[in-house]
Amino acid sequence: MLYYENPYLKSVEVEVKEKKGNKCLLSDTILYPGGGGQPPDEGIAICNGKEYPIKHIGSLWHEIDGECNCKKIKIILNWDRRYLLMRSHTAEHTFFRFLENKGAKMGKIALDEVSSIIFQGDISIEDILDAEEKTRKLIKEGRKVTTFWIEREDVPNYPELRIKLERIRDERIRVVKIEGHDLSACKGVHIANLSEIEDFAVVHFRMGRKKEVKFVIGEKARNYHYRASKEMRKLLWQRNLDMEKIENYIENLEEENEKMRKALRDASKDSKFNMEICGEIELHYLFLPYAERKIIQRKALDIANHNNAIVMYGIGENNVVCIAYNPLYPWAREEYMKLLKKMNGKGGGKGNFVSGSVEDAKKFIEELKKIICEKALQLHGDENGHS
Ligand SMILES: [Zn+2]
Repeated sequence: MLYYENPYLKSVEVEVKEKKGNKCLLSDTILYPGGGGQPPDEGIAICNGKEYPIKHIGSLWHEIDGECNCKKIKIILNWDRRYLLMRSHTAEHTFFRFLENKGAKMGKIALDEVSSIIFQGDISIEDILDAEEKTRKLIKEGRKVTTFWIEREDVPNYPELRIKLERIRDERIRVVKIEGHDLSACKGVHIANLSEIEDFAVVHFRMGRKKEVKFVIGEKARNYHYRASKEMRKLLWQRNLDMEKIENYIENLEEENEKMRKALRDASKDSKFNMEICGEIELHYLFLPYAERKIIQRKALDIANHNNAIVMYGIGENNVVCIAYNPLYPWAREEYMKLLKKMNGKGGGKGNFVSGSVEDAKKFIEELKKIICEKALQLHGDENGHS
């Protein structure tokens, strides 16, 4: 197959051997049909001076988008795309070998402008950065890449070979060799020298059981490294720090943050609602500049559900205002919503709890307290003889 014999061939003239509808059997091809994470090549066929999109669908059968009644056709490969894929594919071999040495297990590869490798294994951020650094070094050294075929029975003679034999049905196996670094069973199309990759950058690393690395090559990788360094220096210089201190600095910040959050939780737990009696109803209210919302919400609901109570509170931090009411007093929700609308706020909620946000939470709670108390006296006051 020409795409193996000469992966750098950008166009070729071939014979049409057989035709079935829009499918042609060709004498040879430069179009890779896809496989091993490398997508199929795109190309055009030229026949009678007209151009048709063409795709290799396997075993030299090609799908041509249009009429094609020529004995001979010229295939022109979408070379820019293919070359990116060849380089990315070889970069993936180079990089992943380093991760495999650390116990990574390949899951799925998707090669593209930004390529993705999904894998498993106990791989740390340091391992990823180390593998990236080593990959860049091999690219700089310009290691040679060669391919050869071996028989299935010869596989045991290559203990270094990365292969999933159970996934391969063919008797002959193609091996891609990166000089002094890697042997891998692969059907993909590769470059001849790592220097063609130019540069390599991991742009994303997702931890977890199923890990994912995303990488770019060439100009994109160069730009990424440049940008990363620029952003990093900006962050350092703005804080008058140097690189050696940044990790410590962030750890301290995180520790401080954790302490503050704990203090906030404790304060929220300790906070007490004020209480006033309006008619037969207990009115509980509270304004806090800062609070752990969930804790206050739980408290409010607890009071409302177990007493003849309407509970309202505001938190200054994000101007949140909430009301929880005993289901005996559904009118409290209406009063709350009315005031919210009047003060240009937004909100809603299920059951006997409503939350919203306004411009001034403190003022809102003061207002709401007055309104609710008046209404409570009207509906459930002593003069109505309910108590
Ligand atoms: Zn491969």
